[in-house]
Amino acid sequence: MNKKKLENVLVINCGSSSVKFEIYNMTDGEKVLAKGLVERIGLQEPMLTFKRADGKKQSEIIRIKDHKEALATVCAKLVDPEIGVLKSLKEVDAIGHRVLHGGSKMTASTLVTEAVKDKIRECFPLGPLHNPANLAGILACEANMPGVPNVAVFDTAFHQTMPPEYAFYAIPREIYEKYDVRKYGFHGTSHRYVTQATARFLNRDLNELNIITCHLGNGSSCAAIKHGKVMDTSMGLTPLQGLVMGTRCGDIDAAVVLYLIRQGMDVDAIDKLLNKQSGFLGVTDIHSSDMRDLIEAKEKGNPTAQLAFDMFLARLTSYIGSYFVTLQKPEAVVFTGGIGENSAYVREQVIARLGVLGCVLDSEKNKVTGKACLISTNDSPLKAIVMPTNEELMIARDTVAIASE
Ligand code: ADP
Repeated sequence: MNKKKLENVLVINCGSSSVKFEIYNMTDGEKVLAKGLVERIGLQEPMLTFKRADGKKQSEIIRIKDHKEALATVCAKLVDPEIGVLKSLKEVDAIGHRVLHGGSKMTASTLVTEAVKDKIRECFPLGPLHNPANLAGILACEANMPGVPNVAVFDTAFHQTMPPEYAFYAIPREIYEKYDVRKYGFHGTSHRYVTQATARFLNRDLNELNIITCHLGNGSSCAAIKHGKVMDTSMGLTPLQGLVMGTRCGDIDAAVVLYLIRQGMDVDAIDKLLNKQSGFLGVTDIHSSDMRDLIEAKEKGNPTAQLAFDMFLARLTSYIGSYFVTLQKPEAVVFTGGIGENSAYVREQVIARLGVLGCVLDSEKNKVTGKACLISTNDSPLKAIVMPTNEELMIARDTVAIASE
C-alpha cells in the first residue's frame, strides 16, 4: 500500500489559557519552520508570539476569546505574507496534539476520531485542567483546518507497559474499577523520546535497552526502562507524585491530606498547597521555583535553599537506587529536561551519590550543556548520559507515522 507523503506537520500543546505551537517540515530534515505561543486566552490582553526559524519574530496583543479564535490567529500567521512560512493552509498535512491524560485505554498515539474525543472527555476527571484544554485545541483545529488529520499523543501512554505490581496502589480493587485510581505516569513522550535517542546513541537495539531516565524540569519524573519499555515511573494518578519539584511536593503520606482536612483546610486549598505552593517554592524563602535561583541562594548560604536542594537530591537518588534494583543493574542513568540538560552542578551532585552503584563521573565531559554526551568515565560500570529531550518532535514523528497510514 502506498503511504501518503506528509510534509508539514503542526504540533499543538494547549493549556487552559495558552496554545503552544510548532510547525515542522518533516521531509526536510525534520526542520522547525516556526513556533510560538498564544497566552492569556480568556484573560485580558491575550498575546501572540510568532517566531520564524530565521529568527524573525512578532509579538502582538490580539483580540480573541477562546481556543478556536486563538487557533484562527495562529493559522493566519502561518500564511501571513510578511512573516508566514506557508503559502496556504492546505500545506498543513497533519496536526499532532499533546494530550495529558489517556487513562488506561489509550496505550499509544492515535488518529483523532469521535470515539477518541469521547475517550479524552472520559479522562476529564483525571486531568481536569489539561484534558479539556487539549480537547479544545483539537476542536479548534478541526474548525480552522477541516479535513486535516489530527493525531493525539498522550503523556501517559508510554507508561502503560508498567506491570500491575508497579502500576497499582495497594487499595481495594473496586476503587480502581469505580474511579480509575492507579498510577499512570506522565512526561511519557519525553521518556520515550529520550529512550529511543539513547538506544541510538549507545548503538543498542531498543528492545535490549535497560536504563533509568530522569526528566528534571519544572516538573520532574524518572522512569525505569526495561527492554525499551517502562517498568516503573515516579509520577502517579497525577503529576504530583514522586520527585521534589519546582512547586510540587512529590511523595507525601496520603494521611497528610486527611489531617489537613480535619484541621479545616478545604480540598481546593490543599490542591493548591501541594501542587502550586510546595517543592522548592514552599520549602525555601526565596519566592522562586527555579533551580537556578535555588542554587544561587544556597551558594550564598541560604539554609532553606540548601534544605530544598538536599531534599531534591535525596528523593531523586532514592528513586535511582530503587530503580537500579528494579532493573537489576541497568546500563545507564540518563539526564534530560531543563535541569538535567543544563545543570552540570546538579548532575555532579547526583552522580557523587551514585558511587555505590558504580557510577563514576568524568568532570570534563560533564561540562556539556544541551547536547547528547556520555558524562561518566569510559570504564564506569553504570554509565551517565545527558540526552536532550524533544517532545514536540516526538509528537510530529508520531503524527507522520499515524496520519500517513
Ligand atoms: P518545563 O518542565 O516547564 O518544561 P524545563 O524543562 O525547561 O521546564 O526546566 C525548567 C527548569 O530548568 C527550571 O527549574 C530552571 O531553573 C532549570 N534550568 C535551566 N537551565 C539551568 C541551569 N543552567 N542550571 C540549573 N537549572 C537550570
